[in-house]
Amino acid sequence: MSELTALTIAGARDGLKKKDFSAAELADAHLSAIEEARALNAYVLETPERARAMAKAADARIAAGNAGPLEGIPLAIKDLFCTEGVRTTACSHILDNFVPAYESTVTAQLWRDGAVLLGKTNCDEFAMGSSNETSYFGNVVNPWRRKGANTPLVPGGSSGGSAAAVAANLALGATGTDTGGSIRQPAAFTGTVGIKPTYGRCSRWGVVAFASSLDQAGPFTRTVRDAAILLRSMSGHDPKDTTSADVPVPNFEAAIGKSVKGLRIGIPKEYRLDGMPAEIERLWEQGRAWLKRAGAELVDVSLPHTKYALPAYYIVAPAEASSNLARYDGVRYGLRVEGRDLIDMYEKTRGEGFGAEVRRRVMIGTYVLSAGYYDAYYLRAQKVRTLIKRDFEECFKAGVHAMLTPATPSAAFAFGEKGGADPVEMYLNDIFTVTVNMAGLPGISVPAGLDTQGLPLGLQLIGRPFDEATLFSLGEVIEQAAGRFAPRRWWAR
Ligand code: GLN
Repeated sequence: MSELTALTIAGARDGLKKKDFSAAELADAHLSAIEEARALNAYVLETPERARAMAKAADARIAAGNAGPLEGIPLAIKDLFCTEGVRTTACSHILDNFVPAYESTVTAQLWRDGAVLLGKTNCDEFAMGSSNETSYFGNVVNPWRRKGANTPLVPGGSSGGSAAAVAANLALGATGTDTGGSIRQPAAFTGTVGIKPTYGRCSRWGVVAFASSLDQAGPFTRTVRDAAILLRSMSGHDPKDTTSADVPVPNFEAAIGKSVKGLRIGIPKEYRLDGMPAEIERLWEQGRAWLKRAGAELVDVSLPHTKYALPAYYIVAPAEASSNLARYDGVRYGLRVEGRDLIDMYEKTRGEGFGAEVRRRVMIGTYVLSAGYYDAYYLRAQKVRTLIKRDFEECFKAGVHAMLTPATPSAAFAFGEKGGADPVEMYLNDIFTVTVNMAGLPGISVPAGLDTQGLPLGLQLIGRPFDEATLFSLGEVIEQAAGRFAPRRWWAR
């Protein structure tokens, strides 16, 4: 039934409505595909029984004529979203066998709308990383390979499992979270669509916190339309999250196919990096041509503080992480390593429970927040953040509707290729994405082409606050022009 797993969400929705197949069949097709693709390590927990039960209930609602907008759609959930009664670990040893007694707001809304849980997906530990190499459960393998080569490649991170699951047809869609690029970068590396909505659009309640002022949930899908469909269900005001925005959620799908004529698209000159691969530059140029052909107007803009975004992010994010991760002390959740006394137990638990990258972030965060360095680092970074946000605001005030940039500085790389001796090498992956989190804006990555090695590359569109709709309209123009991309199914028996 592999044709069922190749459907889009929109296509599956129509097929279910017309009774071409049942939600149970759709779930089963995905469960077998997942079993066949265990080599990718995309899922850290499969939930076949729950999937079948949810699909059965969906079929009953379809038969009774009260189907929800996502009725019977099988989804993968990043293991950062708490799922009631289903193990949630943030892919960290410290959350070993943690089974939440509550459901995150975002996933609760997906189930409310009829979606079916296939399982929990792999990610970097506490979402810290760009390659999925920091997961306690091991790497995810990118379904894509270079032409004529078998070298395993990273799927990007931190939401690598969700991205790989969608790219390999192991789910019709998936959830991710994006603190500095963790949806858009893996989307670009796997040829999928990923959107980080405006900060406050999706509730953070029940999502394991990394850096609370930057974290946002968003969807992975194979088409822009599907991203619009999923985001609508994930969005909305939640009184349980004080930073959740009380703004109406539009029917994002209505933006698909809407004319982009007359939209002013900013091309920020600071995103043209020295030493950027020529094919990234070419892709960007191609994207500009496509939007122009569709009637958009291109304008050169400047975001002068872009160069400070990455250093400022790597102060703000670890600072917030060190504070958020203080709660993992062996008392309330997951792992406990006994010690001589309470302090010894804390130290042993945290020493064993956190991986190297998480420990590094906790140390950096604690340092930049410490009394002697707070003003020099943390406070300074917050000021820089304000300037980065202002750069965007000024462009938008001058009439720019959205910006077009590359999503990543390269295509997917091999395991161990980056960040071994120097963690900054890995951090540089986020160069085009972190500004968007720092400014709280929406950003979408849309597959736009293949590089000379046959690997997917993405273009990023950055929008005005709460104007995801425009990103969907523009994103679909790119998708129509570029076509869709799927990996060769080398993992299937
Ligand atoms: N790669 C970035 C980091 O490691 C962003 C991760 C994310 O967006 N969660 O912090």
